[in-house]
Amino acid sequence: MLVNNYNHVLNQVNAACENVNRNKDEVTLIAVSKTKPSSDIQELYDYGVRDFGENKVQELTSKYEELPKDIRWHLIGHLQTNKVKYIVDKVYMIHSVDSVKLAREIEKEAAKKNVNVNILVQVNVANEDTKFGLDNSEVIKIVEEIATLPHLRIKGLMTIAPFVDDGEENRKYFNELKELSVDIKAKNIDNVCMDMLSMGMSGDFETAIEEGATHVRVGTSIFGVRNYAI
Ligand SMILES: *Cc1c(COP(=O)(O)O)cnc(C)c1O
Repeated sequence: MLVNNYNHVLNQVNAACENVNRNKDEVTLIAVSKTKPSSDIQELYDYGVRDFGENKVQELTSKYEELPKDIRWHLIGHLQTNKVKYIVDKVYMIHSVDSVKLAREIEKEAAKKNVNVNILVQVNVANEDTKFGLDNSEVIKIVEEIATLPHLRIKGLMTIAPFVDDGEENRKYFNELKELSVDIKAKNIDNVCMDMLSMGMSGDFETAIEEGATHVRVGTSIFGVRNYAI
């Protein structure tokens, strides 16, 4: 069942790549497993899936303990500075860095544990009040500041687009994030790489891929609807 859903989404990912003549190896499908049991993750793991996304530190660390250590955990949710210490050495990438203060805390904990941490800078491209992330106008300055922190590896940008019925409505935002990453790349800032774009969820990942996403974060279409009550 989960494997079927996963394959269905993967086929859609590959088809979206074909639409715009991109190589399918350029796009990583992250299975967003938040609220779902470790047994679901294990099922996909046994099938060969390694990239999983979680949005809560506590949930990520408890699943980390239970599951195989070669899983690449992507932290995709808002991260509070006081929780950084629990995850710096467990995550493959933090997608949600939205302040210099948070970046400094990651630097501090990463230095203590002697690890380097891959990060993406989260941008609120649609300027929604309800969403975390930087305004487009602040991004370059903040990337320049974070770039000076030796244990952080800036890999690119991330955004959470508005919730819409038709993913096509978000095309302009995906395009904006891509343009922003091209602008930053052109500045050739030391220690900054702009090769990754984390954008696109169940409702809009195909549009995001057409606009240049390298990482799509898909939960519902793989695992089914989430029940937050439990
Ligand atoms: C939950 C979540 C997703 C997955 O959303 P679906 O619509 O279930 O695919 C993607 N990104 C972030 C940041 C999330 O919190």
